[in-house]
Amino acid sequence: MSMLRFKLLNEAQKRKALQAEVDGERSSEYFGCNVFTIDKMRSHLSKAGLKGFCNAIETGSPLTHELAEEVAQGMKQWAISMGATHYTHWFQPLTGGTAEKHDLFSEFDGNGSMIEEFSGKLLVQQEPDASSFPSGGIRNTFEARGYTAWDPASPAFVVGDTLCIPTIFISYTGEALDYKAPLLKALDAVNRAGVKVCKMFDENVGKITSFLGWEQEYFLVDEALWAGRPDLMLTGRTLMGHDSAKNQQLEDHYFGHIPSRVLAFMTDLEIESLKLGIPVKTRHNEVAPNQFELAPIYEEANLAVDHNLLVMSVMRRVARKHSFRVVLHEKPFKGINGSGKHCNWSLGTDTGVNLLSPGKDAVSNLQFVTFVANVLKAVHKHNGLLKASISTATNAHRLGANEAPPAIISIFLGAQISQVLDKVESSKTDEAIVIDKKSGLKLGIGHIPEIFIDNTDRNRTSPFAFTGNRFEFRAVGSSENCGNAMTALNTAVAEQLEEFVAEVNTLTTKGSAKEKAIFEVIKRYIAESKAIRFDGNGYSDEWKAEAAKRGLDCETSVPVIIDNFLKESSVAMFASTGVLNAKELHSRCEVSWETYTKKIQIESRVLGDLALNHIIPVATGYQSKLLDNVSKTAVLFPGEQGQEMSSQNRLLIERIANHTKEITLGVENMINARKVANKIECEREKSISYHDNVIPLMESIRYHIDKLELIVDNEMWPLPKYRELLFIR
Ligand code: ADP
Ligand code: MG
Repeated sequence: MSMLRFKLLNEAQKRKALQAEVDGERSSEYFGCNVFTIDKMRSHLSKAGLKGFCNAIETGSPLTHELAEEVAQGMKQWAISMGATHYTHWFQPLTGGTAEKHDLFSEFDGNGSMIEEFSGKLLVQQEPDASSFPSGGIRNTFEARGYTAWDPASPAFVVGDTLCIPTIFISYTGEALDYKAPLLKALDAVNRAGVKVCKMFDENVGKITSFLGWEQEYFLVDEALWAGRPDLMLTGRTLMGHDSAKNQQLEDHYFGHIPSRVLAFMTDLEIESLKLGIPVKTRHNEVAPNQFELAPIYEEANLAVDHNLLVMSVMRRVARKHSFRVVLHEKPFKGINGSGKHCNWSLGTDTGVNLLSPGKDAVSNLQFVTFVANVLKAVHKHNGLLKASISTATNAHRLGANEAPPAIISIFLGAQISQVLDKVESSKTDEAIVIDKKSGLKLGIGHIPEIFIDNTDRNRTSPFAFTGNRFEFRAVGSSENCGNAMTALNTAVAEQLEEFVAEVNTLTTKGSAKEKAIFEVIKRYIAESKAIRFDGNGYSDEWKAEAAKRGLDCETSVPVIIDNFLKESSVAMFASTGVLNAKELHSRCEVSWETYTKKIQIESRVLGDLALNHIIPVATGYQSKLLDNVSKTAVLFPGEQGQEMSSQNRLLIERIANHTKEITLGVENMINARKVANKIECEREKSISYHDNVIPLMESIRYHIDKLELIVDNEMWPLPKYRELLFIR
């Protein structure tokens, strides 16, 4: 299997990083205790077996059957010693999240007894009954076979009584049906291309690793209140709810005191995560009330993605122990900041160089500028595709909402790097830049000394920002599998680096000196990718107008944004890098459109149900009370006096009537809009119809419900309100 070609962050490196960065000795004692690490393999594999395994992962060569068998036996022994009775191939289907099917270790021994059995074959490959996982038409139901195949680069781990084996998920005919298979290929592509570029600067570079440090934002809601909100339960967000008088205006939650109940949850979550080898490090309150963030130390991207998915499921489990529900939706509450998953991304060499960190000497500076220029070029060329990689029905609420990145991809570089690039662009090819510590930039010859990065130079409104030694892709949604974004980004950069190598080679074959050729190509890249650079306020309307002028993708409708995957430039990019073929891309788009439709459909149904069965009866109930009051007032106080006394209630009665009428009509129209959309066969058109025709009606229904919330007697209101949901005591 080609996916064997990937290496995990070496255990020693990770431990060292953790020991250095995670406080307290004790966490290092249990760090990774639930993971089948190289250390554990030492006691469960033969010396030769361990060496073979490490070697296979290092060089990317496939494991032999004998070796797989030995690893399987060792893994089983270890898992059973950890109390595991079941094992599962753990995979990342296109539904988002993860999937697993648990099997007992035991098998019949042929004599009527059970023995614990787990073979190399079972470790390497399984065939889950996968017909109900989305495939976008790749698998017909009569040929519903899909296989999961072991990814030895991501270590197996035990959760509860189950050994979880990270796997990729592919169809019978070999197409990827998950997020992990293309990610592995993208990481391989960026490695291959990156090595070629690095060798221009240092012959010793043999491998490029893509690193990812995600920051997971989430909300916590008290479980009892959550249970009183069918919308939150069924769709992950509130479909109605008027602003609380106090929400985040005072910005008193950000980095504020963490309530003790939440702290207990966080501590538990951290311990569970550390046991699973996830190097969690940072926790803090976020901007919105009840919103928090968890971030680990960055890791090799494949492992980091696995760990993020794992953390999301551990969070859900641990939250329940503390009578919370964790809400990972990008926008659970209207009018309150949503949640993202900032993806900090960098590339590093096996010689220990971070390619996105400005180096200390001329060579590494030129190398740094080379990589930055290539990233600019790649993100510029594929800005629409990168947006597509993070666009979902749920993230759509967050993007462009003046609190999250706008729905336009641009790059923030900060003043210093911008100046460096401007200087490179305007310098003659045989000159280089010098940055003077005191006076800033100077033009010099032949050297590019240390570049000083002001880390405070940050722009929170940018979807893709340079932050000193990495780029931070901030547009990624909190609930998503960030493997999708990492695949798009690494593939785009891989394609670009290949192009760079080819262009430099063309110049050098024509007789140009290598450094000169590099300089010339970079200069052109900087000039050509200018449109993607934007350091200003990404929330402003001027930027939207400006971005459109610059030719950046400004589309806001998710179903249409998804088209970017099928653009000629995207298909060519995924094909040339070997990451996804056209058939796979089509199937992925089908799945995205279908998922979009289903999510909106569910929301719309829940909203209709709540409106008709919860809100309207309560509102009319209150209206009856008012009517009763008005008529009794008229009996007791006939004439003008009574009229005067009940004028306020009469007004409310009218307003309730108006809102309930609008809601009833709205629901009727919404159901009709759904009916029309549901008849459309083409998944793309159907999702567009949901976007264009169903969502606006949902918004107007909500508007009227939220108005009613302000009118109706608080005691009668059937749902917990924002002010209750959002403040943990
Ligand atoms: P902030 O919220 O200020 O952006 P955090 O500390 O919350 O920062 O998160 C930063 C994330 O970036 C962490 O996961 C960290 O490990 C990661 N990170 C730091 N350096 C790199 C790097 N060179 N490459 C990738 N990720 C990095
Ligand atoms: Mg950040």
